[in-house]
Amino acid sequence: MDKTIKALVLREVKYKEADRILTVLTEEGKMTMKAPGALRKTSKCSAATQQLTFSDLTLYTRVGHWQVREGTVIEGFDGLRRDLEKLSLAAYLAQVLETVSDEDVASPELLQLGLNSLFALSNGLAEDWLVKAVFELRLACLTGYTPELSGCMQCGETEGELYFDCERGGLVCGHCREYGAKRVSSACLAAMRHVVSVSAKKIFSFTLTGDAVAEFADLCEKYLLTQLDRGFSALDYYKSIRII
Ligand SMILES: [Zn+2]
Repeated sequence: MDKTIKALVLREVKYKEADRILTVLTEEGKMTMKAPGALRKTSKCSAATQQLTFSDLTLYTRVGHWQVREGTVIEGFDGLRRDLEKLSLAAYLAQVLETVSDEDVASPELLQLGLNSLFALSNGLAEDWLVKAVFELRLACLTGYTPELSGCMQCGETEGELYFDCERGGLVCGHCREYGAKRVSSACLAAMRHVVSVSAKKIFSFTLTGDAVAEFADLCEKYLLTQLDRGFSALDYYKSIRII
């Protein structure tokens, strides 16, 4: 029996003559499927099975595996495809989503974060660095690594100079800090508190200026990579082509 899903294509790999093997993210979790003939000009699912496309896909099963019968693009994120920097950043977001999502584990919030971030990036609703940093911090929260931002994790101190410890996952005060904890400015801390606490629609609605921009961007990236305990080839590539 056919079934229809709404799916964000995270990865596509060419298979045989004209097929694609897809890894997609849906509200129900991650799925792998084959799109037979997707690379043929006459295909009914060519556009809908492109990487970084959100699509309605009609599936059928064949010897226990999902295959795409046809597809319709819901959102193509066209702005990404006109800009190599944005496209590379989007590929990093997709690689992170693929890494943290599981098959058969519902993840509507993860899908929503992915779609909102790609849409913001594609349409220039927020600057690229901000989309990246917000995605990283919010994703950390969704995968169980919400940082402790109310006060020192050890003694509860909320006043004075505060530091952020990426390993321990939160704030520490001057007395409790260990090697590696980094001083965090009040502007950066306010931005982090915003991202972890507001509703999904408001995550990009704040401004940062001056030194706090680089501070926030560095901290969010370092925090996610530290908590996931890994790097990403797509992030390395993005950094290598980014115009400074
Ligand atoms: Zn303390």
